[in-house]
Amino acid sequence: MIVVTGATGQLGRLVVEGLRKQGATVVAGARNPAAAADLGVEVRELDYDRPATVDAALAGADQVLLISGSEPGKRVPQHTAVVDAAKRAGVRQLVYTSALHADTTPLVLAPEHKATEEAILASGLPYTFLRNGWYHENYLDQIAQGAKTGEIVGAAGDGRVASAARKDFADAAVAVLTGSGHENKAYELSGDTAWTFSEFADEIGKVAGKSVTYRSLPPAEFQQLLVDQGTPAEVAGFVAALEQNIADGTLADTPGHLRTLIGHPTTPVADTIESVLSA
Ligand code: NDP
Repeated sequence: MIVVTGATGQLGRLVVEGLRKQGATVVAGARNPAAAADLGVEVRELDYDRPATVDAALAGADQVLLISGSEPGKRVPQHTAVVDAAKRAGVRQLVYTSALHADTTPLVLAPEHKATEEAILASGLPYTFLRNGWYHENYLDQIAQGAKTGEIVGAAGDGRVASAARKDFADAAVAVLTGSGHENKAYELSGDTAWTFSEFADEIGKVAGKSVTYRSLPPAEFQQLLVDQGTPAEVAGFVAALEQNIADGTLADTPGHLRTLIGHPTTPVADTIESVLSA
């Protein structure tokens, strides 16, 4: 039996659906069980902030997919609660959605992933790290905005992003949970193609039938622009730091692990642009 945490999230839903299609026995872990009722599988309450619920949810589990939480700053204790419960339950595989090169990358989001990986390693449980790169879906707003205004503004310069569709990452999780030979491995998961924002803007322009350009600002100017537009200062600083990471090539790696795991090319970003603009 496989327990999927964060099953009500966008990635979790896709994974549960994929596992069901493979005929796996799945339990959806959800902090709000009512929100998982439509998933068509057994639902158990699982709140990272309440370790007793995690222990109860993992009872009888053979494998656990720990989907990283959505509250940066709180994730190390949250994830550690799942690692500890998985250890007590004696699961045979703990799969974790981490970040690209979590152990070495300067990505601002990575320290919590690195700490979680270390907790998993220290547990001694058989593990698989799905070191997920960027989702295409992180850019849904920019696609709509670019098509509307003819401009995308950021601070990523000529940095490249090897993003893939969220569904690709979900399919990789399903492949690892239903396949064999994935124990004690770390996969660097990213799209087949690393694109620049200028290329991304061109693609939006092609689909929208108008000129769309990318304007890259110095990070401090971009941060100020976000603040001027109403973004809280702390969030603006974080977003600007992420842009700097992209400018530095932190999310550009294309080792092909994702393509190999899912058994076909990753979804082109052009497909996501098409689907946003045809909606
Ligand atoms: P979502 O925000 O759609 O889903 C997050 C899931 O985490 C939800 O099911 C949410 O539950 C659950 N969750 C949050 N806090 C808790 C908690 N205290 N206890 C139990 N469950 C909790 O994100 P995605 O599904 O798109 O992505 C999955 C994860 O991947 C994110 O949480 C984040 O860590 C990371 N991520 C990666 C990105 C990338 O580009 N690689 C981009 C964005 C996020 P609820 O439904 O109740 O809110």
